[in-house]
Amino acid sequence: METIAAISTAIGNGGIGIIRMSGKESFNILQKIFVNNKEKKIKIDKIKGYTMQYGYIINKNTGEKIDEVIVSFFKNPKSYTKEDMCEINSHGGMIVEKQILNQCLENGAILSEPGEFTKRAFLNGRIDLSQAESIMDLINSKTEKEAKASINQLQGELSGKINEIRHYLLDMMADIEAAIDYPEYDIEEITNKKAFNILENTSEKLNELKNTFNTGKILKEGIKTAIIGRPNVGKSSLLNNILKEERAIVSEIEGTTRDTIEEYISINGIALKIIDTAGIRKTSDTIEKIGVKKALDIANEAELVLAIFDNTKELNKEDLEILEIIKNKNAIILLNKIDIKENNLENNLELINTNKDIIKISAKKGKGINELYKAIENIFQIEELDNGEEAIVTNIRHKNQIEYAIKSIEQAKEAIKNNLPIDIISISIKQALEDLGKITGENVSEDIINEIFSKFCLGK
Ligand code: GDP
Repeated sequence: METIAAISTAIGNGGIGIIRMSGKESFNILQKIFVNNKEKKIKIDKIKGYTMQYGYIINKNTGEKIDEVIVSFFKNPKSYTKEDMCEINSHGGMIVEKQILNQCLENGAILSEPGEFTKRAFLNGRIDLSQAESIMDLINSKTEKEAKASINQLQGELSGKINEIRHYLLDMMADIEAAIDYPEYDIEEITNKKAFNILENTSEKLNELKNTFNTGKILKEGIKTAIIGRPNVGKSSLLNNILKEERAIVSEIEGTTRDTIEEYISINGIALKIIDTAGIRKTSDTIEKIGVKKALDIANEAELVLAIFDNTKELNKEDLEILEIIKNKNAIILLNKIDIKENNLENNLELINTNKDIIKISAKKGKGINELYKAIENIFQIEELDNGEEAIVTNIRHKNQIEYAIKSIEQAKEAIKNNLPIDIISISIKQALEDLGKITGENVSEDIINEIFSKFCLGK
């Protein structure tokens, strides 16, 4: 494999920048472009792994100094990629970083593809595919909990679970193959019964794992949340209040369509993705306010609806329509403006009969917001995530593979029930093993590997 190089730190001006190289030629290349603090060449291949050298990167042809640097050395196999690697810590200016990268390229390295360092870590067997994927998830995490799930996965929680399940199936395959190879011994019936139990057990375990995806999805994508209510109940006030708390703002990132902005707020480490925030906020500046018709569209899209009612007013027709909208949704009823003591909807039967959480708030004064957060945590069982070391499936590819495996196992069970020959049963079990192996990358096609790593950042 060729020696690759890339700038690994984010593009822009910063305190330091890191240019990374990995591959057989890394040290030879460095030998040509590095001098120590006395401006002398040193024997790079004599340097110990996990040490650093202070000095300069020079232009190999002119001898001109490009930057004052510290280089860290990692010798194979004890490196991120399991190859010889070095990381040149330079000053974090774009020009300097590019010049250093160019020296690496001019002296024998090739520019790495996105994710190629991590891809090599995978291909060289340091991490499996699900661990590699978790690295990107960790980098892209929007909340602390998502980051925690990713680091757990990086440490092999998910792979461990998958491998444990594969192990059961492999053991069983060994039994089955014995039965196929030695039909003269009448072990088939016993094996069938035993196999059925193991398959049932395995299927249960896989289903448990699959079900963690709901939580995983929340961790990764946040909870799509809609704030609805008739005009003037305080929707924008609530949103502004939540967003005002600086700790709550996670980020404004571009949505799937170029012209929308999705806003994330974080509640104890979980992101709420507020739908159509810009719309709600914009309308508060104009005479047009968001009404029931729009509420219906927004609520349809949402996984959580915060339905706001004006506690100083009686419920009107529009309010009742809102109640209808939230009937079959994860929803929380908010009685707003409790700082004004004119009316009280608290005992309103129409509201109570919805069986939704009812929380009294003042969007203006910021009252009741913590209760709102707690209610959201309850609905989505967020506190359970804190128990933490459990494997959580956050990646749709993994979830799909688990589902395929469950299907294959169900087919195997069906085959046993129907007394089909054991070699037919074994086909489905082998399929399940293959499905699961694709999560850890044991038998995954090159196309899939390339697609996964192409989504990585350059230099990772
Ligand atoms: P929206 O149309 O639902 O977005 O409602 P707004 O957030 O624009 O609020 C409508 C009016 O109600 C504004 O004058 C707000 O200042 C006021 N308002 C909102 N929340 C409260 C509250 O908790 N207490 C009081 N007293 N007024 C509020």
